[in-house]
Amino acid sequence: MRFLLSNDDGVQAPGLAALAEALKQLGDVTVVAPDSERSAFSSALTLDRPLRPVQLENGFWSVNGTPADCVHLALNGFLDFEPDLVVSGINAGANLGDDTLYSGTVAAALEGRFLGKTGIAVSLVGAHARGYGIESYRPAAAMVARLIEGWRRLQLPNRTILNVNVPDMPLEDIRGFHVARLGHRNRAKDVLQLEDPRGRKAYWIGIAGDPADAGEGTDFHAVSEGYVSVTPLLTDLTRHDALQDVSRWLKDL
Ligand code: MN
Repeated sequence: MRFLLSNDDGVQAPGLAALAEALKQLGDVTVVAPDSERSAFSSALTLDRPLRPVQLENGFWSVNGTPADCVHLALNGFLDFEPDLVVSGINAGANLGDDTLYSGTVAAALEGRFLGKTGIAVSLVGAHARGYGIESYRPAAAMVARLIEGWRRLQLPNRTILNVNVPDMPLEDIRGFHVARLGHRNRAKDVLQLEDPRGRKAYWIGIAGDPADAGEGTDFHAVSEGYVSVTPLLTDLTRHDALQDVSRWLKDL
């Protein structure tokens, strides 16, 4: 199996190294990742300047772009082969519920959606703090390897990816996998107000809101119970159950 790996924490991130290490046991691994952190870049593509991949000593390709740039580039002319699977992560921190809209980790997996077997986005819940070394990501990497080993039995509709969140605990304490829908968060915490060195007001975007819909069946719940949450995602954001209401409204305009 040939894997294309990317992430949004940057090519130097320990979560990416742990993922590459684990998947090398299962097949050929090619890494194309942003040269610096691009968390919360969602599916942004760089259109106003060229992208320049540089190969690092460990063989990873470093790109002056976003997660979506990296996978887009890799699949549309940069690589001389077609990978079987795009795997993104392992992200430093959760991508649960509403996080998936902003996530560069999820976007990298989504960018592979035109492939037959599209992709997996993997995040380690609770790993926001810097100072998490490669060993912190090894349990999550081992769980991803387990998922992929059983991959052949999975039939996914076209353009679907799996969003995977792993609780931060030793491998022997992780209770297994749970399929889950996305939960929801409350609105984000207030922005942090700062003063710059010249006395001007500035603002720093704050942290995501607390879980609001985190009951049984959600990704939040699965992870809090010690399970790896696995959520199939699609790019179609249509609110199907609102189509009729909007249709009725439009008729009277
Ligand atoms: Mn990130």
